[in-house]
Amino acid sequence: MKHNLIIIGSGPAGLTSAIYAARADLKPIVFEGNQPGGQLTITTDVENYPGFPEGIMGPEMMDLFRKQAQRFGAETHFKNVDSVDLSKTPFEVKVGEEIHHADSIVIATGASAKLLNFESETKLMGHGVSACATCDGFFFRDKEVLVVGGGDSAMEEATFLTKFASKVTIVHRRTEFRASKIMQKRVFDNPKIEILWNHSVVDMIGEPDQGGLTSAKVKHSETGEVSEIKCDGLFLAIGHKPNSDFLNNQLETDDKGYIITKADSTATSINGVFACGDIQDTVYRQAITAAGSGCMSAIEVERYLETLH
Ligand SMILES: Cc1cc2nc3c(=O)[nH]c(=O)nc-3n(C[C@H](O)[C@H](O)[C@H](O)COP(=O)(O)OP(=O)(O)OC[C@H]3O[C@@H](n4cnc5c(N)ncnc54)[C@H](O)[C@@H]3O)c2cc1C
Repeated sequence: MKHNLIIIGSGPAGLTSAIYAARADLKPIVFEGNQPGGQLTITTDVENYPGFPEGIMGPEMMDLFRKQAQRFGAETHFKNVDSVDLSKTPFEVKVGEEIHHADSIVIATGASAKLLNFESETKLMGHGVSACATCDGFFFRDKEVLVVGGGDSAMEEATFLTKFASKVTIVHRRTEFRASKIMQKRVFDNPKIEILWNHSVVDMIGEPDQGGLTSAKVKHSETGEVSEIKCDGLFLAIGHKPNSDFLNNQLETDDKGYIITKADSTATSINGVFACGDIQDTVYRQAITAAGSGCMSAIEVERYLETLH
């Protein structure tokens, strides 16, 4: 069966696209992927999304997004898209053994924050551990935090966090940063920032229901010696990975795999294929900007489909 529109991804971008497309009577199909609701489902309080003056828990907010899309007729499936064929129209979307066809596609597969991948990190995510200083820095007023990383984003996050935190320690596994000189200088000149060279975080200590993170274990890169640092927060700033592998290089991307969209548009290098949210955003990476571009994508799909008939 051929659909008007298949939306790949169910974070703020994909589900906003679904709300607008469903209200335009396009009967969109959403494949939610392995993380239904997207990245906000791994965090706790969201305090910067307009309309929720008391804040809202990330998973609850994404349930509301989904319900709103379903209310207008969007069909959502907890399935992952394995690959797409964009070389012919209607486009082909492969989901396991199933093959779906669509006149248009919105790609909203996000960019996952790189994590250290140990159990305590998963347990404490949203309970002192975060991958987004813009989102969660506010919760750490007068607290001591660690930032893990050595690139531009680590420098930026550490500098930003000094607005709130009493002390910021950057933990870096090497003896020099990879960040640009100007960003490094900002860090070196900031009296609230300390740097722990030659160390990596190997464990995080604390219980989610007892105040969250209390300390982190760090290991010296050369001697292997493990020590413990008390901290209230830990921010991972070791980069993001755009979820675009399944596209198999069929769309124009930058060298990291972020989809390139036309200026002031969600149009990609292939007519009828649109991209919104973090998969095409290396700058803002917020729920509201993802939702905004999700809205743009649905309006652009509607206009595109009109040209087909
Ligand atoms: C810990 C943390 C806390 C945050 N806190 C805030 C906050 O307080 N406020 C804020 O504004 N922003 C916050 N952010 C940022 C925000 O989560 C992102 O900017 C936003 O979720 C991006 O939305 P998106 O829809 O583009 O992608 P995502 O939310 O990343 O969603 C991507 C979706 O694509 C799906 N997907 C991926 N591959 C496939 C595939 N092959 N097939 C089908 N589906 C696929 C996934 O399952 C997922 O549903 C936070 C981020 C993190 C990591």
